[in-house]
Amino acid sequence: MGTPADHLHAWLKDAHAMEEQAITMLTSQSSRLENYPDLKARIDKHVQETRDQVALLDRCLERTGGGASSIKDITGKMVAFGQGLSGLFVDDEVVKGSLASLTFEQMEIASYKILIAAADFAGDQETKRVCEMILQQEIAMAEWLDEHAATITRKFLERDQQGMTAKH
Ligand code: MG
Ligand code: FE
Repeated sequence: MGTPADHLHAWLKDAHAMEEQAITMLTSQSSRLENYPDLKARIDKHVQETRDQVALLDRCLERTGGGASSIKDITGKMVAFGQGLSGLFVDDEVVKGSLASLTFEQMEIASYKILIAAADFAGDQETKRVCEMILQQEIAMAEWLDEHAATITRKFLERDQQGMTAKH
């Protein structure tokens, strides 16, 4: 058992680890993309948003207790999830990467909805406000990936058929 504030703090740490993993995944994907400029640009935009999210979560963690040093004991529990889906170095990596990214964004959306409810319950209005703002960025990224999944898949298949580099 823990206080609502304890649970909120623990879940903020999980979100912090999730965002660090997002930066690793997205940066890696972007650095390898050559033939999908729209996707690369959208990923790069979200990398910057994600860096800002990490900074916002840092402040929420400091405010909710433990101080900044408590961030250091975060384990990479999200790492296996991200790497398992990242699909890098396979011959259809842009398709596998799109699948992994959309799945990851859906997880982020669920995480921030949980955090918003927890912050509300704990009476932490500032954390609630921050998480509502981040949630909108995750929804926008998920919607973009959802809207472009078919186009990216078609482009991959077309390029592959024509013997052009299709995978990234
Ligand atoms: Mg995020
Ligand atoms: Fe995201």
